[in-house]
Amino acid sequence: MAFTVRDPHQKNICATCGTRYASAKDAADSCPICLDERQYVGDHGQAWLSYEELGKGKSIRFTRLQPGLHELIIVPAFAIGQKAHLVLSESGNILWDCLPYLDEPTIAYIQSLGGLKAITISHPHYYGLMAEWAAVFNCPVYLHEADQEWVQDESEHFRFWDGAEMALWDDIRIVHVAGHFSGSTVLHLPHHGTNGTLLTGDSIYVARDRKHVSFMYSFPNLVPLPQKAIELIRQRVEPLAFDTLHAAFEGQVIATGAKEAVDRSVKRYLRIFQE
Ligand SMILES: [Zn+2]
Ligand SMILES: [Zn+2]
Repeated sequence: MAFTVRDPHQKNICATCGTRYASAKDAADSCPICLDERQYVGDHGQAWLSYEELGKGKSIRFTRLQPGLHELIIVPAFAIGQKAHLVLSESGNILWDCLPYLDEPTIAYIQSLGGLKAITISHPHYYGLMAEWAAVFNCPVYLHEADQEWVQDESEHFRFWDGAEMALWDDIRIVHVAGHFSGSTVLHLPHHGTNGTLLTGDSIYVARDRKHVSFMYSFPNLVPLPQKAIELIRQRVEPLAFDTLHAAFEGQVIATGAKEAVDRSVKRYLRIFQE
């Protein structure tokens, strides 16, 4: 059966952040995710697109990052421009973070690799078309309860969880670190890479030198986090073994020594706070 989204002609996708809303919008409607001080409204004001409008000329490019891990990027770039990640694992594949687009070649490719057993999303900037992805792959979307107020779409597949971590399978865990959003999470893959891999979304952001990471309340608006938020991230990440780290944007990888890079960066923050 050919793939279609619900209401493909309805203007219900925010042009700036790519979030799909459950109902049609018009110019007078705002996007709470973009109005929030962590985001911004586009230079030409709030704009809403239908799936059909945004999808024109778009595709999804897959790149294999390392064994068992692919990145997915919309080309040409749309909205925030984040990556999603396809995690291949023996007991079931996982989509980490989501995109505001989906098409038949992408569905066929993921199905050829075993489909999806779950979708899990780091925070509200990357919700995209999560309800459509979940319907196509008939799998749950795990979202941290602390961000429930930001969810704009409706789906029988949404599963809200609470607490410091949620175990999936093959020792893979979603870990709540907060900071950027109250419900921000990371995904720990202990058996991917030489000594574990951490997928971080915007919860832990890879610096340009790829030797450090950053923790921010807002990246586009340059709003820092308080010391206690960075200490909580350190506390939650400390028990996790990993050597490789991938954040939300293309090229944001620390291929080796990632654990040390996080430690070094936390120490640098704490030193600055004390000066
Ligand atoms: Zn928006
Ligand atoms: Zn973000």
